[in-house]
Amino acid sequence: MFDFFRNILRAFGTSLRLIASPKVTLDYPNEQEKRSDKARQSHAVDLKKCVACGTCAKACPAKAISIKNHCAGDKKVLDAFSIDYGKCCFCGICEAACHKKAITMTEKNKQSYRKNTIIKHVKKEQIKT
Ligand code: SF4
Ligand code: SF4
Repeated sequence: MFDFFRNILRAFGTSLRLIASPKVTLDYPNEQEKRSDKARQSHAVDLKKCVACGTCAKACPAKAISIKNHCAGDKKVLDAFSIDYGKCCFCGICEAACHKKAITMTEKNKQSYRKNTIIKHVKKEQIKT
C-alpha cells in the first residue's frame, strides 16, 4: 500500500516537473525549425533550362525522378517531370548531374507529406524564372 502512494506521488512529481519545463516540440506546420542555409531540401526545377536528357533520373540512386519525353526532330521535348519524395534521400546528386543547371536543391522543406502530394509534379506553369 505504501508503494502504491509513493508511486502516485512520484508520477505526480514527474508531471509537475514536465509541465514547468520549457517546451521542446513545435506546433508543426504553424511553427517550423530553422534549417541550415546549406541544407538540401526540396528541388527547384527550371524547365526553361531542362533539355529532357534524363541524366538526373539516371543518376538518382533512389530512382525518385521520373521523366517523360518525346523526340521532335533531333531534340527531346519534355512531357512530364516528377520527383517522388517518398523515395528521395536528398543527396543532391541530381543537382550535380544536371549539365544545364536546371535543378537546384533549396532550403525549403516540407517535413511531412500526404499520400497524394508526395510526388512533386513539376508543371509548365511552375517554371522558375
Ligand atoms: S539532367 Fe537537367 S536537363 Fe537533363 S533532364 Fe534532368 S533537369 Fe533536365
Ligand atoms: S536528391 Fe538524390 S535521391 Fe533525391 S531526386 Fe535528387 S538524386 Fe534522387
